Amino acid sequence: MTNTPEITYETETPVLYRVDGPVAWITMNRPGFNNAQNSQMTYALDDAFIRAVNDDAVKVIVLAGEGKHFSAGHDIGTPGRDVDRSFERRLLWADHVNKPGAEFLYTREQEVYLGMCRRWRDCQKPTIAMVQGACVAGGLMLAWVCDLIVASDDAFFQDPVIRMGIPGVEYFAHAFELPPRVAKEFLLFGDRMSAQRAEGFGMVNKVVPRAELAATVSDWASKLAGMPSLGLWLTKQAVNHVEELRGKRSAMDAVYHMHHFAHAQNQILTGNNLAGLDAGKMAAANKDAAKG
Ligand code: ZN
Repeated sequence: MTNTPEITYETETPVLYRVDGPVAWITMNRPGFNNAQNSQMTYALDDAFIRAVNDDAVKVIVLAGEGKHFSAGHDIGTPGRDVDRSFERRLLWADHVNKPGAEFLYTREQEVYLGMCRRWRDCQKPTIAMVQGACVAGGLMLAWVCDLIVASDDAFFQDPVIRMGIPGVEYFAHAFELPPRVAKEFLLFGDRMSAQRAEGFGMVNKVVPRAELAATVSDWASKLAGMPSLGLWLTKQAVNHVEELRGKRSAMDAVYHMHHFAHAQNQILTGNNLAGLDAGKMAAANKDAAKG
């Protein structure tokens, strides 16, 4: 069990939703915490996706982050960290909060991370991630579930959970998003990858100056919105299906269990499923590593 004594949400709207013509803009809105994802946010994201899918006037969905960074990842230490809280679940899992030992996190992460990410990735409307600044760990999952990724030239990508002894975040798309040897480098060192380098591997579709990011995404969204909706759906589904044939889903299922073996090992050895590393300690370790 975790021990979050008190939860203080700094906002009641962790996700902003705006429709502009045929485009729904879904924006993570915890800029004061670099859009760290708590459950309040992931459930609000799910609400926003449902809203966009249900609105026939919406043809394209943009997923963005308010402020300096797209997302610093899962919430591992803000006052709004709410892992101990129950929510109305979206998948057919039992509530996690009263589950003992490793079952607690195993159940929770099936729902809020792996399950929801797969849901959003399979949504029938085309999605574009608009990425600036940090796109770290849990942030990667949100960019990767989108069909297209447009990044600003200051964006960087990183999954440093090796420091917690964990083989990548819950939605293990790393070896599909990057060539295997590059995925190993990315995970084993946990270092930052620039948007420019990511573009070289096709992990990012386009890199533009920060000042042009929103306009570029808006242009792409308008262009997509002019295409037949069913054609867009079938086309994204076709490519997603090829990824499935390459084993994406079963690879993720397998690695999800390694991920949870690592959480459990941390719990046994350190009494904490993240090996005692909170946001501050992770940031400090990253800074040290950057110095060499
Ligand atoms: Zn986890």
